[in-house]
Amino acid sequence: MKLYDAHNHLQDDRFAARQMELLADCAEVGVVRAVVNGACEGDWPQVRALARAHPIVLPSFGYHPWYLQERTADWHATLTGLLQETGGAVGEIGLDRWKPGLPYENQEAVFLAQLRLAAKWNRPASIHCLQAWGRLQELMQENPRPTCGWVLHSFGGSKEMIPGLARLGAYFSFPGYFLHERKHRQREVFKHVPRDRLLIETDSPDQLLPPELNRFPLAGLDGKPLNHPANLVVIYQELAGFLGIEPQLLAAQVEQNFLRLFAGCRG
Ligand SMILES: [Zn+2]
Repeated sequence: MKLYDAHNHLQDDRFAARQMELLADCAEVGVVRAVVNGACEGDWPQVRALARAHPIVLPSFGYHPWYLQERTADWHATLTGLLQETGGAVGEIGLDRWKPGLPYENQEAVFLAQLRLAAKWNRPASIHCLQAWGRLQELMQENPRPTCGWVLHSFGGSKEMIPGLARLGAYFSFPGYFLHERKHRQREVFKHVPRDRLLIETDSPDQLLPPELNRFPLAGLDGKPLNHPANLVVIYQELAGFLGIEPQLLAAQVEQNFLRLFAGCRG
């Protein structure tokens, strides 16, 4: 089976320079492509370096709403240059009204500036949305969008939202974190995602799987557990079981979806 990770953060410093080892593990379980999402100017260079160093890596660059206060005056020009140079995707970008203490002002303006770049070059955008669903749908409706489509990473919205978002070009990405028993509601929602809009992700090093499903235990230098990106293979198997389809059929569908969505990216 060929596996595609629609969203991770392999550049994360918590991996302490072990990325080549992790990518070798990924290749061994069948991962052929992984979208590595930068989250701020500080980690964009590492994303670019990983994409140059390893063919699995599809680079993606964006300002995540949690890090907007780190923006320099040059952020937009730097992002534009990286997207031109690498042919990468846009993300992680988004809207977040959930994180305590996180200011909301500026989030929409920065999100829209990045969405415009995605639309201009028709590159998929990877979107983080927490407690801002109504507003996200309005903004996607009212603004230029990449016609190739865009990703709702770790989609945690309701099943009622799916048709409207799908009409606007959304793909819905399932993380291993939803395999925890208590995430029953989020798992059920994925039964309503159109099969041609379904993606799978690790969000590695975050969103750990339940301990009994964690086939690749990994810890950072501080001893804290990290989600190994090769756990993607477990997420495919578990989601296939949950949806009641053969893993090979799920893999073939996700492959089609991934290749269609990211067809316009180089790198
Ligand atoms: Zn992420």
